[in-house]
Amino acid sequence: LFLSFEGIDGSGKSTQARLLAETLRASGHEVVLTREPGGSPGAEEIRRLVLQGDPDRWSAETELLLFTAARRDHMERTIRPALSAGKVVICDRFADSTRMYQGLSRGDLRGIVDCLHTLMIGLEPDLTLLIDMDPDTGLTRARGRQGDEERFEDFGPDLQKKMRAGFLALAQEYRARFRVIDGNRPVDAVAADVRMTALRMLA
Ligand code: C5P
Repeated sequence: LFLSFEGIDGSGKSTQARLLAETLRASGHEVVLTREPGGSPGAEEIRRLVLQGDPDRWSAETELLLFTAARRDHMERTIRPALSAGKVVICDRFADSTRMYQGLSRGDLRGIVDCLHTLMIGLEPDLTLLIDMDPDTGLTRARGRQGDEERFEDFGPDLQKKMRAGFLALAQEYRARFRVIDGNRPVDAVAADVRMTALRMLA
């Protein structure tokens, strides 16, 4: 089973991914918790290339190719082998983040994103949990942990709002696999919702 978490920066998806992994492990599932960009040694190298240093080093198109290369490596080396072994894979961001960030916020590249996905990836999660979050709260949270990997040069309330709306639209577009979780609640309440939704898939 392949699960992904999506949402704007500061939505709490990494925390929720970790909590779900712990819960599923405690109930006897073999779980691989992974993330994008990254998730395999090669893809983590590409992550550093893209997210550290000069944000204008790569054009939107080049960045899309790098992220696609990273996802291909992540899929070949980490995700596919785990799924073949019958494990549950929980991924913090997957192709939907590229549909949003490279496809919508960095450039108007959604058509190319989808073509590349079909050509080189082809894999979609069985279930995608969108942690929906008020954009201003998300921004405040993300700013609070700003590190050298966070790309704050293009951060701001307008972009956050656009991304939130974009993710909700994506949840409609792929409604068969998306579940929207209200992230504007205490961590435990969100985690309980996430757990219930995931367990229903596993049943
Ligand atoms: O999810 P995480 O915080 O690790 O993401 C790191 C950064 O990479 C975030 O600032 C996010 O906006 C950006 N990102 C991106 N394109 C993706 C995935 C993440 O620009 N496809």
